[in-house]
Parts: sequence; structure tokens; C-alpha cells
Amino acid sequence: MVISMQPNIDAGESHRILIVEDTVISQTLAMMQLKTLGYQADCANHGQEALEMLAQKKYSLILMDCQMPVLDGYAATREIRRLEADGFYLDRFSLGSFPDHIIIVALTASLMSEDREVCIAAGMDDYLSKPVFKEPLAKMLNRWLGG
Ligand SMILES: [Mg+2]
Repeated sequence: MVISMQPNIDAGESHRILIVEDTVISQTLAMMQLKTLGYQADCANHGQEALEMLAQKKYSLILMDCQMPVLDGYAATREIRRLEADGFYLDRFSLGSFPDHIIIVALTASLMSEDREVCIAAGMDDYLSKPVFKEPLAKMLNRWLGG
């Protein structure tokens, strides 16, 4: 039996995804899954690095770990939402082509309901439990970015 590893070219052609994660193994796994689904992705090691990368390049969706050194996922999300509200990204990138709300999906180690509440309260849109598996990742991306 041959298992096709061909990326689904249509899936994420116009969408670039930012993975914000301090664990190298989790970064690698998420990168691999996104690549097989046909998405382009970059990695940031913590929230502060993510903020710097977001100021340089347009991303459609962020996979955001919660527990990270320097700046954790909750604080980074609050800062991104503040910058959005201030029009920082709209000023920085061409108006109209940049979403006024970047989709932020929490990567959580557990799926306890209090974690979800903290994620949503911080301004995240959705959550995905770690380790990231291809099927739930594909479903989540399809839900937010379309086919
Ligand atoms: Mg972490």
C-alpha cells in the first residue's frame, strides 16, 4: 500500500500560518502536519518573537502555545488584539488584504474546560489539544480558513 504524502496544493496556497511554540518537538510536528496539508508556516519560539514576526509578515492564522518563556500565549494574544484594535496591522500592511482579526488557535496540553475559558478570555478563537494530529488540525483549518 502506498500512502500519499503529496501536499494538498489547494488547501493553503494563500494562507501562511505562524506556529508559536517553545518546544522544538512540538514545532517540528506542527510544521510537518501543516506541510502535508499544503500550508506554508513559520515558527516563533515564544510570544515576543511572534509579535516581532507579525510586524514583518502577514499571517492568516496563529497556532499559539499557552505556556512559554519570555511572553506566554495569553499575554501575546492580548497584545495582538490590542494592536489590532489600534489599527497597527492595517497601517502596516496594505488595507483590505489583511484580516482585521487574525485567527488565534490555542495549543493546549489538556482540554480541561477552565483552560478553554482562559484561552477565550485572552482573545483566542479556538483551541487544539497537543500533540497536534493531522485530522483535527485539517478540520480546524478548514473551519477558519475555508477549503
Ligand atoms: Mg510550551
